[in-house]
Amino acid sequence: MSDSSALLRQIPGILHGFGDKHTLLPAELQSYESTRPAKKQVHGVRIVDVTQSGQACGEADGFFTSTPGILLAVFTADCLPVIFCRKDGKQTGVVHAGWRGLIDGILELMAARINASGDTADWVVSIGPAAGACCYEVSQELTDTYMQRLDFPPSLISPVPRHLNLAAIAEAKLRALGFADIDHAGRCTICTPDETGTGFNYTSYRRNSHQREKDPAHPGISGRNQQSGIIIL
Ligand SMILES: [Zn+2]
Repeated sequence: MSDSSALLRQIPGILHGFGDKHTLLPAELQSYESTRPAKKQVHGVRIVDVTQSGQACGEADGFFTSTPGILLAVFTADCLPVIFCRKDGKQTGVVHAGWRGLIDGILELMAARINASGDTADWVVSIGPAAGACCYEVSQELTDTYMQRLDFPPSLISPVPRHLNLAAIAEAKLRALGFADIDHAGRCTICTPDETGTGFNYTSYRRNSHQREKDPAHPGISGRNQQSGIIIL
């Protein structure tokens, strides 16, 4: 079973899910894959209004729609997939946010898009599986940048020296932006084992990079990113 959000499951008229290594696109979304916008994710902050099935969106890391029948989805492999839905199920959004998009303000831009025609207080947000604070070691320089640019407790940003807690930072940002109903789905993409205990549950860019350092013949993750998304039926 793919990860899903307890909050989003309560909203009528939508389907959503967070993919993993074994089911890259959640089963309930697979029949809608051809409606997904064509896009290139670039760790940027551009958010596109989607109004047509298969819309050509160019370089973009966030998507917003009020149109039924279009699957909004992002590819991830350690970055955060964040799914947004108005509580009546009539508008949705998704964002791909890694350390760069998070600090550069993609969540703020999604909130601005929502507030342009509504109110973030009327929306639910779910933060999906990503690199956890347990594993997401970064440089001291990047940790310092986060500490300097964000007005959150150091223990929230970096609970372990030189480790970022992306999901906690995202939640703190979202609360500051007026979202009240926020949950988390899934676990750390780097260390979570699969059900058999012999492999891993998620595709992880970081874990794969370490494997390739030891064994250059080890295959990369191209074509194996998990997808998380939402559709208005
Ligand atoms: Zn971990």
